[in-house]
Amino acid sequence: SLTVGVLALQGGVGEHTGLLRKAAAHLAAKFDFTEVRTTEQLARCDALIIPGGESTTMAIVARRLGLLEPLREFVKVDGKPVWGTCAGLVMLAEEASAAKQGGQELVGGLDVRVLRNRYGTQIQSFVADIQLPFLGEAEKPFRGVFIRAPVVEEIITHSTMGQKTAEPVEVMGVFRKAEAVKGDGGSVEDIVAVRQRNVFGTSFHPELTDDIRIHVWWLKQVLDTARHKGLPVVSAV
Ligand code: GLN
Repeated sequence: SLTVGVLALQGGVGEHTGLLRKAAAHLAAKFDFTEVRTTEQLARCDALIIPGGESTTMAIVARRLGLLEPLREFVKVDGKPVWGTCAGLVMLAEEASAAKQGGQELVGGLDVRVLRNRYGTQIQSFVADIQLPFLGEAEKPFRGVFIRAPVVEEIITHSTMGQKTAEPVEVMGVFRKAEAVKGDGGSVEDIVAVRQRNVFGTSFHPELTDDIRIHVWWLKQVLDTARHKGLPVVSAV
């Protein structure tokens, strides 16, 4: 079976595991879901979710546990499927805007710069419908839960050395702001879901809904990757 980890240093771990289990019931393969706190646990994983929470805290804890370098290797060298939600998206970005002064460490993997806390503080959290064309159901929007959410403010196409980045970053979802939040001086359309190679990130929290569609979609990507690599996939009976 395939082992899918949820990084469990801090943040919304149990919610992801719960939705992963529900999603897996819809797939014809066997998965093991496990919480990841050590390099040994990480090494056993075929794929990983980095949950929401607080990215600065998560980075400090990861550094202390010696997990930052193994995480970077998991994402960039091993090329295993990784999905970050909210703070997890921040961790997977190559650059984070509000991070520079604080010297926040990131895992990286997505050639994007994120803007942290795009919509303000905790009390400015909101729920909004977003269109996610990759789910293939244009008529049924996804309830996006945004809690001090980051957005992708720039896609990095060239390195500081002027070299083109390896593979394009795909925009997988945008949020078109309603009048209520439009007057904040920012752009009217924010990028809230991206993918590049094995790395996927969302600004919002699907694990705080009971909508399993993104978890099902992502587990299918995990399965495809495993089959492609020739890993044994055990059928669910
Ligand atoms: N604002 C947090 C950060 O920058 C993310 C919030 C969340 O994950 N809900 O890390």
